[in-house]
Amino acid sequence: MDADVVVVGLGTVGAMASWRLAEIHGARVIGVERHALGHDFGGYAGESRLFRTGYHESPEYVPMLLQARELWQELERGGRRTLFHPAGVLSIGAPTITPMRNVLVSVQQHGIAHEVLDAAELAHRFPQHGSITDEIGVLDKLGGVLRPESAVHEALRRARRAGAELLDSAPVTAVEPIPGGVRVTTEQGVRTAKHVVVTAGAWAAQLLPELRALLDIRPLVLTWFAPEDPARYAPEVFPGFIRDLGDVHLFGIPSLDGALVKAGWADAWGSIDDPAGLTRFLEPHAMAGVGRDVHGLLPELPAQPSRHSVHMDAYTPDRRAVIGAIQPGVAVVAGLSGHGFKLAPAFGEIAARLVLGLPQQHDISRFSPDRFGG
Ligand SMILES: Cc1cc2nc3c(=O)[nH]c(=O)nc-3n(C[C@H](O)[C@H](O)[C@H](O)COP(=O)(O)OP(=O)(O)OC[C@H]3O[C@@H](n4cnc5c(N)ncnc54)[C@H](O)[C@@H]3O)c2cc1C
Repeated sequence: MDADVVVVGLGTVGAMASWRLAEIHGARVIGVERHALGHDFGGYAGESRLFRTGYHESPEYVPMLLQARELWQELERGGRRTLFHPAGVLSIGAPTITPMRNVLVSVQQHGIAHEVLDAAELAHRFPQHGSITDEIGVLDKLGGVLRPESAVHEALRRARRAGAELLDSAPVTAVEPIPGGVRVTTEQGVRTAKHVVVTAGAWAAQLLPELRALLDIRPLVLTWFAPEDPARYAPEVFPGFIRDLGDVHLFGIPSLDGALVKAGWADAWGSIDDPAGLTRFLEPHAMAGVGRDVHGLLPELPAQPSRHSVHMDAYTPDRRAVIGAIQPGVAVVAGLSGHGFKLAPAFGEIAARLVLGLPQQHDISRFSPDRFGG
């Protein structure tokens, strides 16, 4: 066999899995990427990602989130790049809605440093958010902003330094069982290994047809706005935020470059059949719509974005990733459903333990590929 493990797809999770496998577990790793390493079609592109422990999706993620936070810091400590800005994350919404209840339970049950702010306190502390009446804010003090491109680069650097062979521009076309292992066919030749981890993001179902019915590929649009006074949006005074208001799910990231603020809609962009069909430009009327909503809720920001970019991610029906063995010798981590970047180092560690047959540190049955039946 050429390696202990072939990692297929060196984006978010593939980079983290390669790092954990090669450096922490001492495995012989070959990583294979269809594009250039660190390309900008991946689910990680777009400058920043929110990290939160007050978790809208469910408090059950908190132990994994706390581990991921430690692993982000471990990854950052070993390199020369800033990967995590511990700026806090503010969740804003009516206290009765499920996402806000989940946020409160997450921080309260797990003893996470936080503040609960009423409308008057929000107006005083974070006036950038304009008028708020019936909502509360929960400031998650362990939250912050991750730098995704730098994180992928750093994890790949660490994997390579630990001996991993990383192939770029080598699309994998087939993954097949052979006696004692798996054969991986790429456009640059064939490799064999005892195990394979498929971390192919929006492309995963192309390689593993059993995932086709589970993964919905959704575009996500990022928009940046130029405030009159960028200092009012610096991470020290303007934490990242998520605001749930009726049908509008607004997110925002403080200004990391001292010029632009990232803010926009989540969950509003439909789906596409094939990753190759992603349109990377937004129609002007859609841009204007985002601008109107952002300006409505953050009135100091202009009603027109300065720039935008379009990305994609694979979503499962229950918005939980699919993690587990899927064929003999083949494990998958896919379907991170628009909220998996922050968890990626924990997912990378889980993938490493899966293929190496080591005990898991978390209950991963809730991510089982079999949970949907059929
Ligand atoms: C715009 C946007 C904003 C987001 N915001 C947040 C956020 O604030 N917080 C958060 O936690 N999460 C967020 N997410 C979610 C998170 O970023 C994604 O879930 C995550 O990056 C997906 O990682 P992945 O490893 O599954 O896919 P990717 O990072 O896309 O990696 C897949 C890799 O596999 C490669 N590949 C595919 N097919 C093949 C093949 N056949 N052969 C070889 N290589 C192959 C691809 O080229 C790619 O490099 C956001 C996602 C998007 C798109």
